[in-house]
Amino acid sequence: MKFMAKNQIKIGLIGGTGFYKFFKGKTKEVEVRTKFGSPSDKITIGNLFGKKVAFLPRHGKKHQFPPHLVPYKANIAALKKLGVERIIATTAVGSLRENIKPGDFVICDQFVDRTLRGKESTFFNGPQVVHIEMAYPYCSELRKIAITQAQKLKIRTHSKGIVVVIEGPRFSTLAESLWFSKSGWDLVNMTQYPEIVLASELGICYLNISLVTDYDVGIYSKKNIKPVSIEEVLKNFENNTEKLKKIVLAIIKNISEKRECECESKAKRAILS
Ligand SMILES: [Zn+2]
Repeated sequence: MKFMAKNQIKIGLIGGTGFYKFFKGKTKEVEVRTKFGSPSDKITIGNLFGKKVAFLPRHGKKHQFPPHLVPYKANIAALKKLGVERIIATTAVGSLRENIKPGDFVICDQFVDRTLRGKESTFFNGPQVVHIEMAYPYCSELRKIAITQAQKLKIRTHSKGIVVVIEGPRFSTLAESLWFSKSGWDLVNMTQYPEIVLASELGICYLNISLVTDYDVGIYSKKNIKPVSIEEVLKNFENNTEKLKKIVLAIIKNISEKRECECESKAKRAILS
């Protein structure tokens, strides 16, 4: 790729279209093709604090890909092709806990897969076999930076949370939501899986910043809280986009050039054949 030396773009940002006005100064849009197809959209490359950052809108510029049809493999492969070593992924989530309120942020530390996307969840369908470790799925180094920076900014942020990832695009039933919360899970989302697994398989650090947009439907039975609606999700996301951008900016500013986490070696030792 002649637009830039390959190893210069180390940070990838996957999120909503609200990030288009994130960069100051010149940006470049690049079309990246991978053997897994095209990513959700063109990738915007810009500069922040002297670091090159690649931004990819997960659902496409026009939000044309619903959660179950996002080209996850092509997205991660495209960022890898650009040289990305660290992904900051932002997501909207529903809360399963009263104390995790709409407008709060959560730096997830665990996920539970309740999707049906099995065949799309690995780059390795043989002959090469890879069993990636998932005990601690999110990059520990990036999580620390995110928690510290959110605290410094005095933005209400939970330093951990278990997210259950559902297939979507529909929301949960009341019974499902109650089951999720009784299982000890904190949040519901539709996109973190398989994104995180695919990134991990390629040795890319993955950090999630979840913005709570609603109370899903489970708490509805206990409290006078309305079940989730798309209007509520969009409104709360919009209202908190600036805070989200502040956190992401602070993280990028504080990311060091050299990685000191396990993510790369985890991917190396996962290769079986
Ligand atoms: Zn890492």
